[in-house]
Amino acid sequence: ATPTAVMVATGVGANNGVLIKGGDALERAQKIKYVIFDKTGTLTQGKATVTNAKVFTGMNRGEFLRWVASAEASSEHPLAKAIVEYARHFHFFDEPSATKDGQNNHNESIISGWLLDVSVFTALPGRGVKCFIDGKQVLVGNRKLMTENEITIPTHVENFVVELEESAKTGILVAFDDSLIGVLGVADPLKREATVVIEGLQKMGVKPVMVTGDNWRTARAVAREVGIQDVRAEVLPAGKAEVIDLFQKDGSVVAMVGDGINDSPALAAADVGMAIGAGTDIAIEAADYVLMRNNLEDVITAIDLSRKTLSRIR
Ligand code: ADP
Ligand code: MG
Repeated sequence: ATPTAVMVATGVGANNGVLIKGGDALERAQKIKYVIFDKTGTLTQGKATVTNAKVFTGMNRGEFLRWVASAEASSEHPLAKAIVEYARHFHFFDEPSATKDGQNNHNESIISGWLLDVSVFTALPGRGVKCFIDGKQVLVGNRKLMTENEITIPTHVENFVVELEESAKTGILVAFDDSLIGVLGVADPLKREATVVIEGLQKMGVKPVMVTGDNWRTARAVAREVGIQDVRAEVLPAGKAEVIDLFQKDGSVVAMVGDGINDSPALAAADVGMAIGAGTDIAIEAADYVLMRNNLEDVITAIDLSRKTLSRIR
């Protein structure tokens, strides 16, 4: 593209909340064959909410949630934030014994005073968290986390997790020492425009793909809802860039759309990296395009802009 065409496109993009970081990316975008979408926070709203909290032992639910929230309090993961928020709400508003003075309960010191002391906290990317509370080892995360720590998942627990996953929820398992205590179900709804955008891309001859660290069953359920046929699930953070390589193998131009720290290697590896503007700074830095409006329609806008700009000067 001529410098003028690039300047015009950059300006039009900016007016639509699409920041383009250079003429090369603009040029490549017209030839995009695959768009690889991250699931959480990209196709979905990234506003996870706890929908289920099941305790399989005699433990009181409020106490269970307090332990889980304490373990997750130091994690930056959206799932962790949803859990802490749910547990906090349950403790201060839903418990029969809770004080009903909502305003006072938003006070930070009351909230932190309610959490238990945690030691040797470890965040395990793509798995969950591990720590010690009151001398007990606490694990909160997926099956992989449990298996790696030699926790047996009883059949009735497994069945409950499967049930959650088939309704597009993520099941989070909780173990204290060596026994599985409970499961949380977390739902993260699709962005409103997601389905229309996937359909639009297909009409443009672009193939949408979903990549996620989440489990296969949840991933398939979400993909089915949004209309994506090609899914790569249980991908560890380091593996997302490898998925990009795979699609690039035959020389195809591949775009990646993502929001998280996890996505930055893939955003950098892609021919065209598109970061959601509401995402993390690291993702934004690694990308060629920044979609400021946090709206997936701008993926189409970006490709259109490139196609139109470059055909006009031909
Ligand atoms: P995504 O690609 O969907 O953003 P991640 O790689 O961040 O996924 O996480 C993959 C999976 O690891 C999650 O679906 C969840 O099962 C588990 N996980 C990661 N971090 C946490 C956490 N802090 N608490 C519970 N589970 C977690
Ligand atoms: Mg994400």
